[in-house]
Amino acid sequence: MAKGKISVQTENIFPIIKKFLYSDQEIFLRELVSNAVDATTKVKTLALRGDVKGELGDTTIEVSVDKDAKTLTISDKGIGMSNDEVKKYLNQVAFSSAEEFLEKYKDEASIIGHFGLGFYSAFMVADKVEVITKSFQEDEGGVKWTCEGDPEYSIAKSKKTDRGTDIVLHISDDSVEYLEDARIQELLDKYCKFLPVEIKFGTKTETTYDGEGDDKTAIETEVDNIINNPNPLWKKSPSKITDEEYQAFYRELHPMGQPPLFWIHLNIDYPFNLTGILYFPKLMNSIEMQKNKIQLYSNQVYVTDNVQEIVPEFLTLLHGVIDSPDIPLNVSRSYLQADSNVKKITSYITKKVAEKLNGLFKDDRKAFEEKWSEVGTFVKYGMLSEEKFHDKAKKFALLKNLEGEFYTLEEYKAKVETNQKDKSDKVIYLYTNNPKEHHSYVQSAKAYGYDVLEFDNIIDNHFMQHVEYKEGEVSFVRVDSDTADNLVKKDETKESVLSEKEVDKVKDLFTTALGDLQGGQIELKPLSPEDHPVLITKPEFMRRMKEMQAMSGMDMGSMPDMHNVVVNTNHPLIVEKLLKMRSADKKSDFAKYLHSLAKLNQNMLKGEEMSKFISKSIEFMS
Ligand code: ADP
Repeated sequence: MAKGKISVQTENIFPIIKKFLYSDQEIFLRELVSNAVDATTKVKTLALRGDVKGELGDTTIEVSVDKDAKTLTISDKGIGMSNDEVKKYLNQVAFSSAEEFLEKYKDEASIIGHFGLGFYSAFMVADKVEVITKSFQEDEGGVKWTCEGDPEYSIAKSKKTDRGTDIVLHISDDSVEYLEDARIQELLDKYCKFLPVEIKFGTKTETTYDGEGDDKTAIETEVDNIINNPNPLWKKSPSKITDEEYQAFYRELHPMGQPPLFWIHLNIDYPFNLTGILYFPKLMNSIEMQKNKIQLYSNQVYVTDNVQEIVPEFLTLLHGVIDSPDIPLNVSRSYLQADSNVKKITSYITKKVAEKLNGLFKDDRKAFEEKWSEVGTFVKYGMLSEEKFHDKAKKFALLKNLEGEFYTLEEYKAKVETNQKDKSDKVIYLYTNNPKEHHSYVQSAKAYGYDVLEFDNIIDNHFMQHVEYKEGEVSFVRVDSDTADNLVKKDETKESVLSEKEVDKVKDLFTTALGDLQGGQIELKPLSPEDHPVLITKPEFMRRMKEMQAMSGMDMGSMPDMHNVVVNTNHPLIVEKLLKMRSADKKSDFAKYLHSLAKLNQNMLKGEEMSKFISKSIEFMS
């Protein structure tokens, strides 16, 4: 047996390794199993070239726990190491790369996936590590390397005769959780589920049935517990995958989720390598809840489910997997965002998503429209946050009117342009976000031949402003923001039944009767006698300001819920009734009553005001 000393620059690296990112200790298993996978892949490649003598045999990697001996062992039938290679790879390559890694990231807790610590991550959970290995080369004998978590190691001959490597971890007292089957199974599920070589962890009982009906008997057999799927769907050629397979894979990733709306298979070799499948989930109400559902892999090794730096923010609503060896994994997040490959990957994914949506829209518009309520949120979010996505998505982003018809932005403009252009050549898009509450406003707008859009999403407020900003010559106006005649402001003068003096009288009357309107105005308009006598309007600009304030959580009560009161000076109740009343009190009561009626129409009549209104109505009727 020979003894040696690992050349150390960093003064005693082992205590640092032990403490390194305590919460991420568990990644040691991924590092060691990935090494076993690499060694196996290498021997397979050599075998293909005819460089390995004899049969390759079974290459399953095995993970096993011995609770009594307090060991966790990872065994592979890979390439193995000769005596010289052990010295070179474990004492020099592995050690110095671990050293370099720790030196660089000692103070930085935000390293994606923490790749790079490699073999020496074993010392995060073990007091002592033994490596028993035998190279694939016939003339090399078995070797046993032992290290007890200090720079000293020993190396000796081993009786091992079959090809491959066993890494035996003597689990330290404060890491005994890694001697529990359930914990190891959990880690294997998390990090190794799609590794490209079969991994066995113990056995499991499989039940098969023999016979029919009453004769049916269950037969239980012990079989290997293979924890991974070495050929995940994303690695296959899209042309060979059926819809059922895509759906089944989604269930594998999200057993509780609803079936996805559709999916995109990513597959690119140049200028970077990336594969993956992204699913469009059925969007639930809460946007936040759905995030972190994309898993990042590097050559089928799980890295993280936090992909915010790689995928544009709006795409984090998608589910699925991305696998790319070209995403640098042992760098900090801020560096990652600046990485040129990552930038290319981001724009590639954005482009693919836009192309997919465009394809769906073109191939089957009807189906696309049916999915719009779910896809729409996502598309709008994307248009708002990514310039490039906006440019592509404006071709298939849809507006829906109250008749349930869908229009692209271009189509809609063409539809309403003639009738809804105002005097400054802006096309006015009318909308409601509450068709029930705005019923009478909608009716009035329709009487003018106007079309009314329906918006119902939190994101729609932002989306409207975005379209206004991008298109320049359109303006969104809510149906209750003005009287119908004035929603689209045109240059028209209307006949008034009353004289100017009489109009002034009406104005005075309402001003005194209604009192403080909290910033709201009283307007007098010679509307059609068929319109309501008094109307409430909520000016678009003021309302939006208030909504923005509320959304940004800045509502400090500074802006009251302002509304204007429009008196229709051509209405018979004003012309024939109000003006002809004798008593000043009666006039005031009547004006108040008409105002209440208008508020009722807007669902604004509450509490005491409502009670008074009811009493007044009863009084009027009797
Ligand atoms: P990395 O895998 O990033 O190269 P590691 O520290 O994990 O770094 O391992 C260092 C080297 O040790 C590997 O490159 C490989 O040559 C060798 N090695 C580690 N584990 C095994 C194994 N199970 N079989 C064969 N060689 C191994």
